[in-house]
Amino acid sequence: MVDLIEKELITDTLDDLTVGVGIFYVPDFDDLESITYVFMNRVILYEMRKTREEVFGNKIIEVAPEAFEHEGGRLVMQTYANIARDGGSLDLGIVEYSNELVAGLYECSVHQIKKHYVYVQLRNVTELEQTKMELERKNEDLKQFNYIVSHDLQEPLNSIISFTNILNSEKNKLSEIGQRSIDVLATSANRMKAFIRGILEFSKIGVKEKEWVSIKDLIVNLKIDLSNLIQERNAIVDYQGPAIEVNAYSLDLTKLFQNLIVNGIKYTHQDTQPIITIRVKELEKSFEFSVQDNGIGIAEEHFEEIFKVFQRLHRRDQYSGTGIGLSHCKKVVELHGGEIWLTSKIGEGTTFYFTIPK
Ligand code: ADP
Repeated sequence: MVDLIEKELITDTLDDLTVGVGIFYVPDFDDLESITYVFMNRVILYEMRKTREEVFGNKIIEVAPEAFEHEGGRLVMQTYANIARDGGSLDLGIVEYSNELVAGLYECSVHQIKKHYVYVQLRNVTELEQTKMELERKNEDLKQFNYIVSHDLQEPLNSIISFTNILNSEKNKLSEIGQRSIDVLATSANRMKAFIRGILEFSKIGVKEKEWVSIKDLIVNLKIDLSNLIQERNAIVDYQGPAIEVNAYSLDLTKLFQNLIVNGIKYTHQDTQPIITIRVKELEKSFEFSVQDNGIGIAEEHFEEIFKVFQRLHRRDQYSGTGIGLSHCKKVVELHGGEIWLTSKIGEGTTFYFTIPK
């Protein structure tokens, strides 16, 4: 009686699992047709579109003869026999299964229970694999789009800029309206170039592999890259954190710090010496970075919109920019699985915070 209740408990538990679990008996290791179904949980029965009665105690050759009709199926059954004989476990990766009612892709692993018995774990990954394929196709489209933006758009733009420069050098020969038009043309063309560069960098996020990045070195190198701007504004850029390394997309992380530091310097009054302080706090599962400035500050009602692409709070003649920088930062942080936010008070400076998981 106890036996029966225990059996029911085990069956209920296995039926409740979201992965497919099946138990097979291999009486003769050299005869694949001898492999017999002992148990299949609800998930596997559903995947095969079979009932318990059709399956339990019967041989695979009787229930699913199609499994013997192709190389892949025979290989899977050979694995059942080998593991039932030799022990251990084997991850088969992704296998295809189909009968007259279903067709799909399954992540599959085989494990010995005791000699002659194996259990198989199955997870239907058909949709996941389809989504992956779609994503790959979309990435390809994006690469193609990048190509068009970088080559086809930049080329005519470069011609416009070159001819504007030529006209500019002959400016005194032009009428007053011609001279003004040339100025507007040059400014607009250069802005468009900045936009195109921004969009290109935005869509290149996360294309390389992650690596261990020393934050101290990253900031030292950034200060060299930004030395013109730093000198021009007599800015202080100071890293006050310990020597830590994070697993990250190095180029994207550099761009993230660069955008925040450049903004910190840019959005500080001309008559104030910009002081940018970078700190790091080690949390249980992530590092929390902060980039603080002593700049003009941001009103709280704009805390969300500034992260949207092309959103700016200032006119171009006040502060130059494209409105891509912070949305780029957000995308990089989210790519790493972190969060970005800020605290700020008008006239008292801004601190941007972001986390990068360990
Ligand atoms: P951009 O600087 O090219 O305009 P961003 O996306 O980097 O674009 O920033 C969006 C807007 O947020 C800026 O136009 C600016 O108004 C505001 N902003 C960003 N960083 C700061 C900062 N450190 N201090 C004050 N305002 C800022």
